[in-house]
Amino acid sequence: MKRPVQYVCVFALILFSACSLWSQEKLDLETITRIRYEGFHNSQVMQLASGLMDSIGERLTGSPNMKRANEWTRDQLSAMGLRNAHLESWGPFGRGWANQYVNVRMTSPDIAPLITYSKAWTPGTNGMVTGKCIRANIEKKEDFEKYRGKLAGMIVIFGPDAEVKPITELPYKRLTDDDLSTIGEYQIPGERPPFRFADYLKRRQFIQDLNQFFADEKVLAVIDHSRGTSGGGTVFVQSGGSYKPGETASVPQLTMASEHWARIARLLDQKKEVSLELNVQNTFYDDDPMQYDTLAEIPGTDTKDEVVMLGAHLDSWHSGTGATDNGAGTVVMMEAVRILKALDKEYGIKPRRTIRIGLWSGEEEGLLGSQGYVEHHFGSRPRMDDPLMKDMPTLLRREAGPVTVKPEQAKISAYFNVDNGTGKIRGVYLQENEAVAPIFEAWMRPFKDLGMTTLTMRNTGGTDHLSFDAVGIPGFQFIQDPIEYESRTHHSNMDVYDRLQAEDLKQMAVIVASFVYEAAMRDQMLPRKPIEGPLPREKE
Ligand SMILES: [Zn+2]
Repeated sequence: MKRPVQYVCVFALILFSACSLWSQEKLDLETITRIRYEGFHNSQVMQLASGLMDSIGERLTGSPNMKRANEWTRDQLSAMGLRNAHLESWGPFGRGWANQYVNVRMTSPDIAPLITYSKAWTPGTNGMVTGKCIRANIEKKEDFEKYRGKLAGMIVIFGPDAEVKPITELPYKRLTDDDLSTIGEYQIPGERPPFRFADYLKRRQFIQDLNQFFADEKVLAVIDHSRGTSGGGTVFVQSGGSYKPGETASVPQLTMASEHWARIARLLDQKKEVSLELNVQNTFYDDDPMQYDTLAEIPGTDTKDEVVMLGAHLDSWHSGTGATDNGAGTVVMMEAVRILKALDKEYGIKPRRTIRIGLWSGEEEGLLGSQGYVEHHFGSRPRMDDPLMKDMPTLLRREAGPVTVKPEQAKISAYFNVDNGTGKIRGVYLQENEAVAPIFEAWMRPFKDLGMTTLTMRNTGGTDHLSFDAVGIPGFQFIQDPIEYESRTHHSNMDVYDRLQAEDLKQMAVIVASFVYEAAMRDQMLPRKPIEGPLPREKE
């Protein structure tokens, strides 16, 4: 095919201007070499991981362990030489909760231990209890009538049938070149539908009604099965409704391994009597409704009033030890600042801008800790007038009006987040901020040999960079290899230290330290994109 000559010229021109733009980005390769050396030869990331996951353990927001983790991270950051390490409160959150003991076994027709975990914010059993099982599947309010008067003193084997299938796909995955090129393609967004208040409130009301129904029927306990079809003793378990005072469930609720639950369900379908013995000890804590984020700084030098932030959520679900969600992100961020402090001690390398680390709580309940911090320091949207919606976090208040920013908002260059498990960094989601692409392209170049090659204009959601993005601060989440995140670890009882991949965590810490350092040294702060405007309120 003959290519028209003017196309070649245009292409050459684009290439030339892009190259000249990129080459303007100064790169401190000597410091990057030192970051790599410190991060690969003197890494502390697995020691930090064991301290957080093995010694402290689960970190459900509101639990005593959460507070312990806040204090431990503060003290560790102080010991690394960071300044101003402290806890900042947000809230009120709701009730604290922790599980102390759970033991569930079948006593009839056979004797067998059953892999079961308590759902968060549900009560225990007042010691050992035994009861007969009954199947129930309630999906809407109209289903209540089918079971009314039949459940008193019973253990409800709850929900649709459990499907257990052989594992035919590898539960482990790294992103291929094809996967990365798909992620790299921007998709022009359609019109964003308004947040469906009516659906949200209906769903919340249904869970309240269901919990009230179980209480009124004097149910002994409710047991559902883990999600997914892969089973294998991995139990994905979250909460049994609200953590708000006056709204928490009053009947014990548990989640069981699918195969164990399915055995009970089959026996019940065959009209056989099944009895279980349960002993569950849970505690609610109502002494402090506030929750805490951990903050610490490496002070800047000539432009120290400007800030570069990095962070991750420190909280987790409660059945594992929150290793990949998000102990990984936490220890990577801590290791990144440790590396930067080590460079200061060894070579006197100090950042121009102040580097501030934030470790958030309340992420699993809706990015609450980071939004609390952002609202306190950088900006927010107005409260909503509807009494049911008045406590909505700032991200969900687009219908209430435009963002009001505080003076500190103008002084923060960027926020970097890690919260996609233990897998290596493969690139960055630019969150539609095209202007940072040539800058990150240059910063990414020294890490091609570590598998970091992809920038995408795409947005990614679901974690704390959104809190910053919502008020106009460039907030970024890295693209990561999934490893076993969806198949095994995310919110499961097996989200533990052993599922962490040391080499991946070291790679992440080196890249994060380098990006944060470059952002702290750059002549200008990072370019910004427009703040998302308000949405019209949905007609109900
Ligand atoms: Zn997470």
